Amino acid sequence: MSEILAEEECLSQSGQSRRNLLKLGAVGGAAMIAAGVTPAAKAREDGIGLVKHDAFPLKISPNYQRFSEMDTSFHRFNKAGIAFYKRPKPDENKPGFTSIDYALKMGGRSVANALSPYAPAYEGYHLPKIFKPNALNSEFRFKDSATAHAVIKRAARHYGADLVGITRRDPRWDYTHVREGNTAHKFEDALQFEPKTVIMLGFEVGYEGMRAAPSPLGDAGQVDGYSKMSKTSLQLASFLQLLGFHAAGVGNSFGLSVPYGIAAGLGENTRMGLLLNHKYGPRIRLGKVYTDLDLDEYFDKPVTFGVESFCKKCMHCADNCPSKAIPKDEEPSMGPPDDGTDWGFSNPGVRKWYVNCDKCLQYWADSNTSCSSCITSCPYNKPNFWHHRLIDKANMFLPGPLHKLMADMDLLHGYGKTFNETAPAVFWDDKGRSYDGFGD
Ligand code: SF4
Ligand code: SF4
Repeated sequence: MSEILAEEECLSQSGQSRRNLLKLGAVGGAAMIAAGVTPAAKAREDGIGLVKHDAFPLKISPNYQRFSEMDTSFHRFNKAGIAFYKRPKPDENKPGFTSIDYALKMGGRSVANALSPYAPAYEGYHLPKIFKPNALNSEFRFKDSATAHAVIKRAARHYGADLVGITRRDPRWDYTHVREGNTAHKFEDALQFEPKTVIMLGFEVGYEGMRAAPSPLGDAGQVDGYSKMSKTSLQLASFLQLLGFHAAGVGNSFGLSVPYGIAAGLGENTRMGLLLNHKYGPRIRLGKVYTDLDLDEYFDKPVTFGVESFCKKCMHCADNCPSKAIPKDEEPSMGPPDDGTDWGFSNPGVRKWYVNCDKCLQYWADSNTSCSSCITSCPYNKPNFWHHRLIDKANMFLPGPLHKLMADMDLLHGYGKTFNETAPAVFWDDKGRSYDGFGD
């Protein structure tokens, strides 16, 4: 099935017309022509419009301090005995919540669970296996840094990563302590070697299932992303060991994946606090491999492509957040508001929007889902059709006031829904879907 036909079928189920969307694409195309670029070339070339930065693109206070994984909301809830991922009774009459949907979700998590003692994707359960150079292997010498980048990226993609970025280790983004259950380990003790490089891995989460978020079907792609993260980071750490380096695949733990992802050029920060990639939008999971491979030069640089400007006007994630965890201030700030809330889970000193993670996790616990309404409602969350990419590109060139209009147009065209009631039927369509994912 062609991409266009596939989407026409998808949109017809929600009563929308592709013609209108194409008109919006034409608006974007006109904007880009005015900006002196060829829309066809832009739609094909994903990297166009990205601005590369030598320095980290978010303002950081000189008083910024590392913090401990023991202070995160996940551990606060763990200490309080509030359980996530309880399995409520499936509802066979509620699409997205049936036994089959639950089975899909939990089956998708199985690899992450099995590999948790080796390359934990989820924080807090296990420390990773530390791969130490094999005595038979002397440290391999890459011809140069460019060769090292190319080889490592090829290997990571071979093992299953959709995105790979390589950046110098930056202690600001590492936790002072990492968590194993209720035990805190000093970062240095837990890793057992001094890391020089962090390899960031990105995994696309399927579009079709996420249209059903929040629900077990909506979670299924997310947990599958964690399984891919464990598998790929374990294999990549082993690969580096066989070349004579220390390495560990650490998933969510040991350091903050979003700033490391920004530093490695995988995307921009957002109002909802997740990384937004120019190909996949916010529909990605991020994992990390730390290694003592030291490179003379790091070629992946932070990129921006107008997301912060768009977020200032677009409030879709905040409007759709069931726990009201996402702020609605137009401008990002250097710290959380002084509103009487215990923001101890949050680390101030970076200019961004501060999300109330405790409120978010309380909703996860209450709903027995990992929610993701913010991701589903984001205008950048689209399958990879050329006209969506064209509109994304247009947003880079349009002035800020038009971003509100573009965000509203997204809703008019049937996107941005959370728990789209047509999604489970489309996902489980027995004809099969050919366009889920970035694909070909
Ligand atoms: S996951 Fe849900 S509750 Fe959490 S911030 Fe996103 S929309 Fe809000
Ligand atoms: S929904 Fe809108 S405000 Fe929220 S992250 Fe996406 S673009 Fe930004």
